[in-house]
This record gives sequence, C-alpha cells and structure tokens, in this order.
Amino acid sequence: MSSVKRISILGSTGSIGKNTLDIVARNRNQFQVVSLASRSDVESIVRQAREYKPKLVALFDEEAACDAESSLAGSGISVLSGTEGILEASTIPEADTVVSAIVGAAGVMPTFAAVEAGKDVALANKEALVAAGSIIINEAQRTGARILPVDSEHSAVFQAIMGQDTDGVERLILTASGGPFFGKGFDILDRVTPEMALDHPRWEMGPKVTVDSATMMNKGLEVIEAHWLFGVPDERIEVVVHPQSIVHSMVEFIDGSTLAQMGVADMRLPIAFALGYPDRMSLPFEPLDLTAEGRLEFFKPDLEFFPCLSLAYKALRRGGGIPAVMNAANEVAVGAFLNGQLPFTGIPLVVAHVMETAPEVQDRNLAEILRGDSWARKAANDYIASPGV
Ligand code: MG
Repeated sequence: MSSVKRISILGSTGSIGKNTLDIVARNRNQFQVVSLASRSDVESIVRQAREYKPKLVALFDEEAACDAESSLAGSGISVLSGTEGILEASTIPEADTVVSAIVGAAGVMPTFAAVEAGKDVALANKEALVAAGSIIINEAQRTGARILPVDSEHSAVFQAIMGQDTDGVERLILTASGGPFFGKGFDILDRVTPEMALDHPRWEMGPKVTVDSATMMNKGLEVIEAHWLFGVPDERIEVVVHPQSIVHSMVEFIDGSTLAQMGVADMRLPIAFALGYPDRMSLPFEPLDLTAEGRLEFFKPDLEFFPCLSLAYKALRRGGGIPAVMNAANEVAVGAFLNGQLPFTGIPLVVAHVMETAPEVQDRNLAEILRGDSWARKAANDYIASPGV
C-alpha cells in the first residue's frame, strides 16, 4: 500500500474497535487514526486517544465527554459529545475510511452520515443495513462510497465474489456456528441464563451479538444484510450451521461451482481485509491447520429451535420498515433477557408479537425508519411489562 489510510473508528472501545486498533498498532506506517467514538467508555477512549493521537474524540454520553475532556486537556485533541459529536467523528474531512462498529440501532445514523460524506465504510454494525438497507445502498451509489463488510460472513462472500459478475451468482450460503445451544434438546431453552447464552463456543463478541448468536437472530440479521450488500433475494440466501467456524461463508455460482472462504475464527482477519482493501496485509496468526481441525460439518438449522431466524426472513419478505421494527424489538428483548426480566424463550415471542402488531412502516427516509424503531421499542417494552409474558 503506497499512501497512509486515515481512519475513523466509531465504537472504538468495543470488540471490533479494539481489534481494529490492534491492526493499526501492527501497521503504523499504513494507518493513521483521525477520530475515535464511543458511547461512554471514558477510560478506554482516553487511553486510546493518548496512544493513537486522533484529531477528535467523541463520546455519546455528555458526562463521559466532560470527563474525557479534562483528561485530555492540553493534548490538542478535541472532545465532542452527543449525537452531534458522533456524527462529527463519522464525517471528519480527514478520514478516508470509517470503521462503523457502534452496536445496535445507534449505529444507523453515523453510518448513513459516513456514506453521505462519500467515505469508504468498513461496516461492522449490522443494524444500518438491516434497518435502512435501501436508503444506505442508494446513498452509497449516489456518493460513490464503498461499503466494505467487516462481518466475517459478508467478508467471506465479498472475497468469494470479488472480480466476478453478480449475474453469475446462484446462492449465498452463510455459515453459522449455531451458538452454545445448537444440537441440544428443546428442554435446554427453558433453562437458559444470561451466563449460558454469553458463553459462545467460537467467537469473542460483545453481549448483544453473543445473545443474538445464541438465538440465531444474528444470522437472520446477516441474511438481511447480505441481501442489501450483494443484491441477492431472500430465497437465494441460505444458512447452514457449521460448528467449526472455519468456512466463513460460501458463494454458489450458476455453473454449480461453489467458492468458500476459510480461516481461523479471528475478527482481525475480516477487519484487516476491509481496511487494506484491495490489498491484503500480513497478520500474526497461526496458519489454518485443517488436519488438526479434523472434520468440517454442515447442518440445516432447525427453525423451530431457532424461531428468530424465520422471523428475520419474514421481515425481509415483508420489506419496508419491518426489518427495522424487528431489529428494535429484538434489541429490547435481548436487553430484557440480559437484565433478567425476560426468559430466553421470550425473545422470539416479543419479536413476533411486535412484528405482527406493527402498522405498515415505510422506508423512504431515515425519519420513517427511526419512527418505526421507536414504535417497536415501545411496543416491545409494553409487551414485556404485560402480565403473563
Ligand atoms: Mg457474523
């Protein structure tokens, strides 16, 4: 790579953000960090700011921003707060690439803003495309912003499709680890505690994504994301459970040829691919040893065991703002489960109820999406609070 890439990291204190900075630290001559943003983790972001010396640090939380400002006084780094601050961090003129790794619907606006500003977006936030796929993809076409997937499955598809005409694509086959409960009997679902759901066999991720992985809503969100990223309709996107998480996803072409991308289960691989694109960079991993892995298995997911996966397909088929509604209901339900207010099996019930009772929601602009999102959050909270749920 010839010139230095200047990057902004939204969600720098989360798992993707930290892994991104790990790659930057190993390749200081290739990358320069120009802004960092986090919701409220002052301690981590101040440490990161001292080390990487961005121009700008943004914290959503006002109080956290005040604390960071006093810690960074005299450093020449500006500290901003609130939605405004996060949007400044995502559109800072100096950045070439924005790593969009804020978790949840909070990442939608800043992702859109980066696309609107014509940045390359290394996209880890799923909700931006789930909730506002058509809006963001249209905007990217208008501004020329490139969306480079960071999610391991989409990175795999992106790599397998590279240089080929999408007309030749027959199917996308997304792999799923199946999470901690795959292959267990139905009775386990009634006994799942947050600790059990957070104990993921293969990937280190934040709590929201880990619970989504246990319900397979994560894969459902990824199906919707894949639809928007690659322009493939839902009936040609398939999910297979692959407990070893070696094959990160596959693309089947119209001639029956299937390309798979494989690698160790480490998020730094897809992050580095998005950051370096179109070049590859050297990473410090043990080489993939397929003989040590032994066997690679693939199973059809049981949709009765994982109702969230069906709900996501249903939302994609209904279209409009319904995926945004589904996503918001799921965020509330997962939060309630983690707080002990909702059993694990309640998550798909809440999501299904909110989707069934949702009015028609359009997706012509972000305001409509955000209205659908707020409506769904309220509906989900009301339903969780109602007796007998
Ligand atoms: Mg994934």
